[in-house]
Amino acid sequence: MMDKYDCIVIGAGPAGLSATLTLGRARRKVALFDNGTNRNRVTHESHGFLTRDGIKPKEFKDIAVKQLESYPSVSISNETVIKVIKDVQRDLFLVNTSNNKSYITEKILLATGIQEEFPLLQIRQYYGKSLFSCPYCDGWELRDKPLAIIAENDEHIIHMTKLVFNWSKDLIVFTNGHQLSNKVRNDFESKKIKVYTEVIKNLHGDNGNLESIELESGENILRSGGFVVPSFYRPNKFAEHLNCQVDENGGIITDSAGRTTVIGIYIAGETEKAGPSSLMIAAADGNKAASSINMDITLDRF
Ligand SMILES: Cc1cc2nc3c(=O)[nH]c(=O)nc-3n(C[C@H](O)[C@H](O)[C@H](O)COP(=O)(O)OP(=O)(O)OC[C@H]3O[C@@H](n4cnc5c(N)ncnc54)[C@H](O)[C@@H]3O)c2cc1C
Repeated sequence: MMDKYDCIVIGAGPAGLSATLTLGRARRKVALFDNGTNRNRVTHESHGFLTRDGIKPKEFKDIAVKQLESYPSVSISNETVIKVIKDVQRDLFLVNTSNNKSYITEKILLATGIQEEFPLLQIRQYYGKSLFSCPYCDGWELRDKPLAIIAENDEHIIHMTKLVFNWSKDLIVFTNGHQLSNKVRNDFESKKIKVYTEVIKNLHGDNGNLESIELESGENILRSGGFVVPSFYRPNKFAEHLNCQVDENGGIITDSAGRTTVIGIYIAGETEKAGPSSLMIAAADGNKAASSINMDITLDRF
């Protein structure tokens, strides 16, 4: 008979790590799985996490993992979870990993995060080094620089441009073929923000540092960094396969304390938000979901 866990946490980003810490401290038997695909792995520094401003993402995770080692009921494995199956009769979950191992658990926390898709493949080379998607995370480092805003619809263009204008007044908007309304163009021009609606042909730079953006016409516009608006998506469908209800936008429905519509399944972090957030928010979500998990186990067993 396999060991039964109180909770299996899938994903050791800030959401999963923080949940595991809370559960370990609550004396729960927890297994945490991670496969190293955290969204911020491409960046050198993380900003805005209280007391850890400027920390490297790897160092952030290493400290969290080290601190979890103090809790004997917690185990951490570098494994990809490939399937979660509900055992309805026993009210348990079976978790399968890519190493052909299986685990059983009473509760599941999905903290697997999201990923981004870019309008242009070349953006990947610069993402996390000189092109970013979150001004709160990286706006300070790019302040007053000649920046590009790369976005492809009115709503995203307006939102990102107005926001980034706070950090740098030297902005050029690239819509990659999207035609912007005259009203918006006039608003931007009144602030001396140029707009290029031509399709982008290429990005140029060195070692992730953007130097210029080349348009289809061959015109090359100098920029030393900027912000892009990617599309975000949830790469795995564990929640759907386990029959958790989702809303019309594909977001998993929760009670705002991390409980999904299926008893025993919880979510935290960007998986829950169905969009980008921050290390601090994800960690807080993990803490909140862990309290729900612990309370539910407590009430079941008391
Ligand atoms: C370039 C960049 C820079 C950023 N800079 C900042 C910053 O300065 N400050 C800030 O606050 N935020 C920053 N962020 C945002 C921050 O990284 C996210 O908000 C945060 O990581 C979300 O936490 P999470 O725990 O929800 O997801 P993640 O951190 O993405 O963690 C999810 C984890 O799940 C694991 N996983 C996924 N699927 C599986 C599976 N099937 N099996 C096992 N494990 C799995 C992954 O390996 C990953 O570690 C940045 C993001 C990017 C992309």
